[in-house]
Amino acid sequence: MPGLFIDVEVATSIRGDAELAKKLDEVCPVDIYMATSEGVQIREEQLDECVLCELCLDAAPAGAVRVIKLYDGGAALERS
Ligand code: SF4
Repeated sequence: MPGLFIDVEVATSIRGDAELAKKLDEVCPVDIYMATSEGVQIREEQLDECVLCELCLDAAPAGAVRVIKLYDGGAALERS
């Protein structure tokens, strides 16, 4: 389930990457990413707390993580 305002997609190809999961868990200031033994999980209840900081985009390979602004017609957050 996406949030009301924000959804986050993690590409299947990197979802099981434990190192990347740890990195995403560390960088997101509002705890949207959770590193588990199976890789990265999304805390759905946190999605709308996203502050659009782009730190997750910087931490992941290009295009692997998408932050989708549902309030803006589904536009993806871009690295500035
Ligand atoms: S843009 Fe920032 S707040 Fe939003 S999911 Fe990525 S790291 Fe978390």
